[in-house]
Amino acid sequence: MQLYNTLTRTIEDFVPYEEGKVKMYTCGPTVYHYAHIGNLRSYIFEDILVKTLEYLGYQVKRVMNITDVGHMTSDGDTGEDKMSKGAKREGKSVSEIAQFYTDAFLKDLEKLHIKRPDILEKASDHIDIYIEMIKKMLDEGYAYIACGNVYFDISKAKDYYQLSGKKQEELMVAVRKDVEEDTFKKNPFDFGLWFTTSKFENQIMKWNSPWGVGYPGWHIECSGLACHYLGEYLDIHCGGVDNIFPHHTNEIAQSEAYLGHKWCKYWLHGEHLNDKSGKMSKSKGEILTLSLLEEKGYHPLVYRYFCLNSHYRKTLTFSYSSLDGAKSAYQKLKKRIRLLTNEGEVDSTQVEQYDSLFKEALATDLNTASALTVLYNVLKDNTLTDATKRALVEKFDQVLSLNLLALEETTELDENYILEMIEKRKEAKVNKDYQEADRIRDELLHQGIRLMDTREGVTYEIIN
Ligand code: AMP
Ligand code: ZN
Repeated sequence: MQLYNTLTRTIEDFVPYEEGKVKMYTCGPTVYHYAHIGNLRSYIFEDILVKTLEYLGYQVKRVMNITDVGHMTSDGDTGEDKMSKGAKREGKSVSEIAQFYTDAFLKDLEKLHIKRPDILEKASDHIDIYIEMIKKMLDEGYAYIACGNVYFDISKAKDYYQLSGKKQEELMVAVRKDVEEDTFKKNPFDFGLWFTTSKFENQIMKWNSPWGVGYPGWHIECSGLACHYLGEYLDIHCGGVDNIFPHHTNEIAQSEAYLGHKWCKYWLHGEHLNDKSGKMSKSKGEILTLSLLEEKGYHPLVYRYFCLNSHYRKTLTFSYSSLDGAKSAYQKLKKRIRLLTNEGEVDSTQVEQYDSLFKEALATDLNTASALTVLYNVLKDNTLTDATKRALVEKFDQVLSLNLLALEETTELDENYILEMIEKRKEAKVNKDYQEADRIRDELLHQGIRLMDTREGVTYEIIN
């Protein structure tokens, strides 16, 4: 297995600390709002990683946090706590907001066939752990108290800028608006481990600590949960690229200070999904959620298929027309598989050969697009019996999780949906919006539905 490691900026052979076992930590959602489909792209990439490792024979233990405290709107120490902001927005309590959006997140995972992490824990349930870690860092001189808050002193970290690969001056330019003029910090990049009431009086969730009533910083939550549930040595840590600095940089600094040795071997980051404005956002306009896609007639697995067609380290731009392309390709793929019979013997040599190509694609830094090509090649190969093809599809779907052999609504075209589209096209024509009318006709055609204008009205036929 070869993976691109952000820490070394190279593709490396994957060698876990303990043979055959993988300890993996993935940053979870901040539950102040719905996950947007960009966030979900990161979780799909992590799901493929887990399933690939398992497919290759590793035993994986994965931990994820639910951030329900301490994550500021800036990702640094400034701004408002996202949870308080969500609570105010909806006139509910922080815990109500946390519960509601955690449930919504879990539903999204299920719809996308993302395996639930083995351990999924709320940050606010582990305050004692952070306090113990912070105490040790203070005792050993890695942290200091200023104005009632406890800060990590980045000058004590071994190689603070290694993960980002950038110098402080470059990072200052990139995050200038996030770097607060905090005269109590020795260095503007020192970061908060514990905040007390002296500074953030509006904070809703607070706990007792040796430094006063307050709350933990966002970064310590991930270090705390990872060390608590996975021990002193971590094999893989994932997140989106926005997590590289400051979040993961700070996680490394504090975890290694606390543990006294190197902590995580491989850092993997998924590139972003952007909308046409260049950035997915939860604060402006309509949030692109999975439910919104469903309302617009896209099955969640169409979105998964859309993501698997690109490499996780490449930026992906979202548009409905490219999603339409994925929808039609996915439906065609499922239709093709549905037509497979159970005829013939399963040829185990051919299964092995194609399976090793599939594994090779995924083991090359998770090349999901190549893995899909192997699947298409299987379906195209006239020398394979249908039974062999079926056996391979079933195997590949353990990783792809596209429900390839199931007969459900993704292939069975819904009559109501077709009639609705015909109605919409009619309306467009009445409004003389012929472009929209043609677009609807073409969209249906991509999905294998041909419309026919007859004297009696519009009829349709299903084509292969
Ligand atoms: P958050 O809920 O903001 O803490 O983010 C959850 C996860 O989504 C993190 O791993 C982020 O790095 C990731 N993420 C945020 N924005 C995007 C995006 N536009 N595309 C892909 N992943 C993202
Ligand atoms: Zn994290």
